[in-house]
Amino acid sequence: MEDIIRLLPDSVANQIAAGEVVQRPASVVKELLENAIDAGATSVQLIVKDSGRTLIQVVDNGKGMSFNDARLCFERHATSKLRSADDLFHISTKGFRGEALASIAAIAHVELKTKRSGDEMGALVRIEGSEVKNHTITATPDGTSIAVKNLFFNVPARRNFLKSDKIEFSHIEEEFFRVAIIHHDVSFQLFNNGKQELKLQSGNLKQRIVGIFGQHLNDKLFPIELDHELMHITGFISKPENSKKQRCEQYMFINNRFVKHSLLNFAVEKAYTDLIPQGYHPAYFISITIDPAMIDVNVSPTKVEVKLQDERLFFGFLNSSVKKSLGTMSLTPMIDFDDSAPFRMTDRPAGVEISEPVVSVNRNYNPFDKIPEKRNSSPFQQFRNENFTKSTPTSNEWEQFLKNVSLENVGKSTGTQQSVDFTSQLQDEVPDDIPFFVFQKRYLFLKLNGAAIVADLHNLHERILYDGYVAAMKSSPIRPQQSLFPTTITLTVSQTDLAMSLKEDFLDLGYDLEKIDSTHIAVNGTPNDEDVEGDVQALVSNVLDSWQMSQVVGNSDRVASMALAMAKQKKGRQRIPTTKDEVKYLMTKLLASSSPQVSPSGKHIMHTFGDDELRRHFD
Ligand code: ADP
Ligand code: MG
Repeated sequence: MEDIIRLLPDSVANQIAAGEVVQRPASVVKELLENAIDAGATSVQLIVKDSGRTLIQVVDNGKGMSFNDARLCFERHATSKLRSADDLFHISTKGFRGEALASIAAIAHVELKTKRSGDEMGALVRIEGSEVKNHTITATPDGTSIAVKNLFFNVPARRNFLKSDKIEFSHIEEEFFRVAIIHHDVSFQLFNNGKQELKLQSGNLKQRIVGIFGQHLNDKLFPIELDHELMHITGFISKPENSKKQRCEQYMFINNRFVKHSLLNFAVEKAYTDLIPQGYHPAYFISITIDPAMIDVNVSPTKVEVKLQDERLFFGFLNSSVKKSLGTMSLTPMIDFDDSAPFRMTDRPAGVEISEPVVSVNRNYNPFDKIPEKRNSSPFQQFRNENFTKSTPTSNEWEQFLKNVSLENVGKSTGTQQSVDFTSQLQDEVPDDIPFFVFQKRYLFLKLNGAAIVADLHNLHERILYDGYVAAMKSSPIRPQQSLFPTTITLTVSQTDLAMSLKEDFLDLGYDLEKIDSTHIAVNGTPNDEDVEGDVQALVSNVLDSWQMSQVVGNSDRVASMALAMAKQKKGRQRIPTTKDEVKYLMTKLLASSSPQVSPSGKHIMHTFGDDELRRHFD
């Protein structure tokens, strides 16, 4: 009998290896992007067609390869990154196995063009299913371009198991984010089906995060920092109030490599205990730097999982630095309500690409149709209207109003058994002249019919705005002001879908939204009370978050949820009343409200001090 064991031909071995390395187009994206980073590129382009089915191309300006290396890199275990087994313990590159290109070339048509900056000519290699078709000299810019076409052309089973274009693209996007976030000093571009989806200029971590996930994250993140001889931690964590039901936007990196480790995730989330409802998760972008000897990345070929040498050490450092940051956060005062600069411009971080206004997306768009004439100006704008005198409350209304105010507060502060009947004090006419002053730009002190009233302007505004927005959505929509240069806002794919499903509601609120692509929306019209361009982004995304969040907690009142988010977004920005007419206007609005006592967030709007109440403090 003859021996039956054979060595597999390389092409077959590579195809088997490919089964592990290349699960889907996104795996190719990951390997190619990592190679570009390892090659020291400062600018990287990812070009994708049909979610990677027909083309995945990465173009970098890295160090390139020699003519011979261009051919060699497709061999199995061909790597420039490991020389000896010893090197395995201090890996500082992304790749080191030398099997990615060999695997990819086994199951696709690959075209490589590469040139080192010192070389006059570059190299071109064409390889299809491990078979080299072409290896010649070519003219090409410094750096490397690898185009992977017809992925899985010889593995029909894999091809058939690919998910929808949308899903495959979202995997690609995710791999792209994982590389792009941590390599924020490298500029990236992402093209999909010929269209530029993202352009990220080099910048700091925060700028990169905002560049990818949108301006709305800017205010939601808080820095975290730990400097220790064993470990350096930097990054950003989300404020507790911005946590979400879905576990999204959680990015952890060790030595610039995206990692998933349940203990590390737990270390972060545990620090939030008691700060966020159960089942909610914070967002985080955390970068840990340590001696490479302390981790083992050699666990799986896809290298997302990582083995830590001393897990407790990691847990302790990470948990306490998140806790410390959360502690500092709670001590940091909220943005002060400052009259001298009530409309602050949100700084666009340097390096974040300003998208060109999209003017001609909608050819059917006509500012004069589709907006019903009956639309009003927004409640926010009404505030700013100089025309405050239109309607002042009748004395009867005042009476009713103060009656409610007084009784409720007395009941609360002194106990119902001692309740004092203020109605007796309200028999006088309400004076035309209401003495008032504003304290700390926030508290409105009024004297009315023998009672001293203190109102919190923030909560008061929130109530009036909320009522205005509810009315807008139910019966009297706000008229958007059509802008010549619409603002473009960036959202996640699911937020974009949600926003478009709420298009009519947004229109009622005065925002005319139009989808540009899966992550961008043009705002063609606003209620004309937008002081800050960046506002629209924050506003839309907060409204969406709020509606998503209320659904999660079983609240299905869409109108209330959206109106509240709108009101919260705008409160604290209103002008401070300076004239008696303005005070009267505010009070009239409040009176007309169904609940003048409490803000829609459930906070007190005012406290009333009657004579008795005051005397208690002194007698
Ligand atoms: P690994 O990254 O594990 O070394 P790969 O198969 O991904 O293995 O790449 C093999 C080798 O090809 C790399 O070690 C590197 O020398 C070279 N290489 C791959 N991509 C690039 C690139 N974009 N620029 C320069 N060299 C590259
Ligand atoms: Mg590699």
